[in-house]
Amino acid sequence: MNTETSRALFGRAKALIPGGVNSPVRACGSVGADPLFIQSADGCHLTDADGNRFIDYVGSWGPLILGHNHPAVLEAVMDAARRGASFGAPTELEIELAELITEALPAMEMVRMVNSGTEATMSALRLARGYTGRDTIIKFDGCYHGHADTLLVGAGSGVATLNIPGSPGVPASVVAHTLSLPYNDIDGFRKVMAEKGDSAAAVIVEPVAGNMGTVPPADGFLAALREETRRRGALLIFDEVMSGFRVARGGAQILYGIEPDLTCLGKIIGGGLPVGAYGGRKEIMERIAPQGPVYQAGTLSGNPLAMAAGAATLKELKKPGFYRRLEGLSGELAAGLLKAAQDAGIPAVGNRVGSMLGLFFTDRPVRNFEDAKTSNLDLFAAYYKGMRDKGIYLAPSQFEAGFVSAAHTAEAIDRTVGAAREVLDGLRDRFGK
Ligand SMILES: *Cc1c(COP(=O)(O)O)cnc(C)c1O
Repeated sequence: MNTETSRALFGRAKALIPGGVNSPVRACGSVGADPLFIQSADGCHLTDADGNRFIDYVGSWGPLILGHNHPAVLEAVMDAARRGASFGAPTELEIELAELITEALPAMEMVRMVNSGTEATMSALRLARGYTGRDTIIKFDGCYHGHADTLLVGAGSGVATLNIPGSPGVPASVVAHTLSLPYNDIDGFRKVMAEKGDSAAAVIVEPVAGNMGTVPPADGFLAALREETRRRGALLIFDEVMSGFRVARGGAQILYGIEPDLTCLGKIIGGGLPVGAYGGRKEIMERIAPQGPVYQAGTLSGNPLAMAAGAATLKELKKPGFYRRLEGLSGELAAGLLKAAQDAGIPAVGNRVGSMLGLFFTDRPVRNFEDAKTSNLDLFAAYYKGMRDKGIYLAPSQFEAGFVSAAHTAEAIDRTVGAAREVLDGLRDRFGK
């Protein structure tokens, strides 16, 4: 495959943009590849700067549940753009998107729009601290909640990993109130809540984890979070930036029937444009300025183009049978990939919730970050490169979820599974049992 143009563009980018990219994982560093520069996309396909065409399972890291350039989304954005890009004043589009969100997630009685998932989680935490008058935040290893200081706590094993900033530039004092616990460890969580729950402002979790690969919640895990937070007077925050409108229209909270106090959204609700949102019970949300004293603002928040793209997307998701079809395609893909690995004698575990999925190259069930980290990353890198050479565009990391969109077809899934069979078979000698 000729990727000369991408290589040249990467060279130009590296001189001006740190690492040549505006978000680290795009650089493909962990799989030892160079990034492809994208020229255009449509449906489930991407075309790179050299004219190579790929079946896309990244979907802009989650937002594009309808695929690229869905006609209704495109039309809505064009229409909004013709009326003006930004006003810094309220528009009806903001109400429309808020209505589409709150009707799908009834636990979000009120919602505030922001510009990214990071802003949503950061603001939800401030609100939780402002509302409870407490400082401690409990999160889980391997869950990613954006790049705000408070939440960049290094994942670690054991019970509570305290006070370890996950990046230079994050003062230890800023994360002194953040605890990170193993995902899906119900007993460990209950123990920490018994000791520290009374000082906890919030427990924040990805109710379906998607940032250590795809890891579903264990039976009873989300219910335990709900029970303990209620008992101790802490707020439960579901970070559904990825899972919202993805694993079900109402997200994981509807799928598993657990109601959080606050919810963070992003990705799909922006239809490919930069959007985030946080919301929850009225009594809590009313603490936000200008209604209440907890400050949070944004020059471009509620941007009309972004609201239009989001609303057009969410309307499509209401069509009968939408999630059923997506579930069918995703199930086919997950089963096909796992079988391809098994037939090649390569140890693999397939996790999937709805159209969020992942294949871990390990032989133990993946229930948390420790399990995920037992994956063979050399094997993943070889698999990634092999698939890319065959026109299949996967996320360049073992610890990212894959996404199926409504624009994928049974033929695209078949082609993908066929490519995986060839690639994994070719890796049998190096990595097979
Ligand atoms: C992507 C993601 C974020 C961060 O959103 P950005 O828009 O990248 O800031 C936060 N939480 C979860 C669960 C995510 O998947």
